[in-house]
Amino acid sequence: MFSTMQDVPLTVSRILEHGSTVHGSSQVITWTGGEPHRRSFAEVGARAAQLAHALRGLGVEREDRIATLLWNNAEHLEAYLAVPSMGAVLHTLNLRLAPEQLTWIAHHAEDRVLLVNGSLLPLLAPLLPHLPLLEHLVVTGPGDRGVLDGARPTVHDYEELLAGQPERYDWPELDEREAAILCYTSGTTGDPKGVLYSHRSLYLHCLQVNTAESFALGAGDLALPVVPMFHVNAWGLPHAAFMAGASLLMPDRFLQPAPLAEMIETLRPTIGAAVPTIWQGLLAELDAHRRDVACLHTVIIGGSACPPALMRGFEERHGIRVVHAWGMTETSPLGTVAHPPVGVTGDEEWRYRTTQGRFPAAVEARLIGPDGTRLPWDGASAGELEVRGPWIAGAYYGGADGAPQRPADKFSPDGWLRTGDVGTITPDGYLTLTDRAKDVIKSGGEWISSLELENHLMAHPDVAEAAVIAVPDDKWGERPLAAVVLVDGATTGHDELKAFLAERIARWQLPERWAWIASVPKTSVGKFDKKVLRRWYADGELD
Ligand code: ADP
Repeated sequence: MFSTMQDVPLTVSRILEHGSTVHGSSQVITWTGGEPHRRSFAEVGARAAQLAHALRGLGVEREDRIATLLWNNAEHLEAYLAVPSMGAVLHTLNLRLAPEQLTWIAHHAEDRVLLVNGSLLPLLAPLLPHLPLLEHLVVTGPGDRGVLDGARPTVHDYEELLAGQPERYDWPELDEREAAILCYTSGTTGDPKGVLYSHRSLYLHCLQVNTAESFALGAGDLALPVVPMFHVNAWGLPHAAFMAGASLLMPDRFLQPAPLAEMIETLRPTIGAAVPTIWQGLLAELDAHRRDVACLHTVIIGGSACPPALMRGFEERHGIRVVHAWGMTETSPLGTVAHPPVGVTGDEEWRYRTTQGRFPAAVEARLIGPDGTRLPWDGASAGELEVRGPWIAGAYYGGADGAPQRPADKFSPDGWLRTGDVGTITPDGYLTLTDRAKDVIKSGGEWISSLELENHLMAHPDVAEAAVIAVPDDKWGERPLAAVVLVDGATTGHDELKAFLAERIARWQLPERWAWIASVPKTSVGKFDKKVLRRWYADGELD
């Protein structure tokens, strides 16, 4: 028997209409380096309608891909709301990718229109000859448009395009399963793959972001998404904030530690989100130049494992609580969030908080052992994590004419997402990742966790960064190599670091190979890039 309830589609246009009316006075504040730029949710809603009219005027139809090459700012939020609401598909391009990857992705997505920030025109101009399907370029903000002279797509100014357009749009009623946003994985472990979020998946994900077991955004918050809007929709924060009426502080291109510290002290955000490398930089800045940043009641760290020393540093020295979270492009990205159970304190609380966290009800998880069997949630059995749920990808975008792709290494025969992450789950549902399957060090039939070694190394006061990779070994198959970045002025040797590690891990896990490097190479979204480290090792540069 079916229910008697209404079947109303869950769409981005509902978030847009709700946020711009019920929460019309909430603010989007964009950092400019000078006077911050402010726009109310009501204005953002009106401008989103104008943008939709303008795009219609350019011939944009349902399902057309509209790309963005933008920083985190009010214009990007307008596109986040307008493009899916009108039935087109927003495609967020990662501005830190190599030119060949960017052109490959934009071509694969068949982007027809591209919204680009003026500051990024020098980056974009050389790519244009390789994007024959691109018809319109819409430029936001100042920038030298001279570099586009002779470029083929028609160039428009964002503000001129919006001016005079109606401030209301009759949003079409869409099927909630239609595509809303296209986002490619950053390709840390292979070619980028397109994940097509639906209206339904985005909407449900927003509801989850706003629960107390996740980020608990409310109308009293000012959220600072430092994580770029081209990286898994800034972890869902822009849409979730618009839904909850939480004001947004957009850092635009000012992602360096000093401007971040300044914007936190002056504009007083209550919650921020970024990958560990960004927060590591901010912590060093705050340690060197004290500022009052206690306005941040929560800092969400995810995207790669958060070193416990970083969490403690923020909390003990600056009064900011760090919340660790896990997710991936394919999971929208929520994932797990590491809130401890009620009532635990002291070391036990830290033990929970340094896990990757707990799954929400909508995300089912299972661990699969090397022989394909399902492992128990006993906190000890380690296997590959597989997940399924309403905001988890079931396939990759196959290109305009291609069928969705379900590679066997990414999707199980029964449709679960194979995350490629290896870990354990406790009986009360806390996930601890030990590694990515590709990063695990298989030494003499035992597994060594590169993450665990890195976390311990980064707890040493002289270590700024440490990344551990597996290298071939005649006797053991593989052994760990630790690539270490020392803090300025430190001269610590491997004997001292080994002694430090020996107090924390089994002796057979201690690395015997060490390399001292100036900084750990990073991916386009700021994660440790172990592919590059492995290449350096193969080229003899880490000996
Ligand atoms: P890419 O896979 O290209 O790096 P994603 O941003 O989707 O792009 O990365 C997802 C991956 O990042 C996860 O599969 C996991 O390996 C890693 N990751 C994310 N959050 C965490 C975390 N809190 N701890 C450990 N690893 C994490």
